[in-house]
Amino acid sequence: SIMDRIKIPKATAKRLPLYYRYLIILNEEGKDKVSSTELSEAVQVDSASIRRDFSYFGALGKRGYGYDVKNLLSFFKKILNQDTLTNVALVGVGNLGRALLNYNFKRSNNIRISCAFDINKEITGRILSGVPVYDMKDLKQQLSDQQISIAILTVPSTAAQKTTDEMVDAGVKGIMNFTPIRLSAPASVRVQNVDLATELQTLIYFLDSEKQKNDEL
Ligand code: ATP
Repeated sequence: SIMDRIKIPKATAKRLPLYYRYLIILNEEGKDKVSSTELSEAVQVDSASIRRDFSYFGALGKRGYGYDVKNLLSFFKKILNQDTLTNVALVGVGNLGRALLNYNFKRSNNIRISCAFDINKEITGRILSGVPVYDMKDLKQQLSDQQISIAILTVPSTAAQKTTDEMVDAGVKGIMNFTPIRLSAPASVRVQNVDLATELQTLIYFLDSEKQKNDEL
């Protein structure tokens, strides 16, 4: 994909979906062009960063004219792989897993959870929120049949590493880890940690320290 060829900074990559969503809105409103200032206000990123971000993709903007919405849109679409559907697997159909199955990224048209796995015989062999739940012993076969290389991990902490090993063995290359465990996986496997408790703790910490600052004043 284009993403593999262009080396873009992580911060830029993170902002791409923001730009993309706003461009869709502009396009639906029938707007042909957009200035970096306008974009800046809409997505809350300073215009210097926007110009720098866009410069990584070559000369897409013209001075005094702004950016061509349709051009940008088709460009981002390719970069973000919006034309290709990516199926992902979910492993561990507990409370969090079920919530994710039910959510199933409905707002994005290019990703979806297409299969789930668990060891609990009461859920395996059933369809939850439109997604079939398989037994863990079918992991390798299903992932290979469906050409899935990304998995969301929502098993209990105690099973996190063992399950990771099984996923790696089944050919998984990317893991979205919802457990608080630091997983060990080969260097070729990318792990994205999503620790909700830590995130919330960080938020609480920030609010507390701000309150302390104010109290001291
Ligand atoms: P949460 O709210 O964290 O999703 P929960 O309390 O609903 O959790 P957990 O005990 O955390 O349930 O288990 C989550 C799911 O993971 C359960 O459906 C459980 O059957 C499943 N699970 C447990 N061990 C394994 C394993 N080794 N492989 C696959 N799934 C597992």
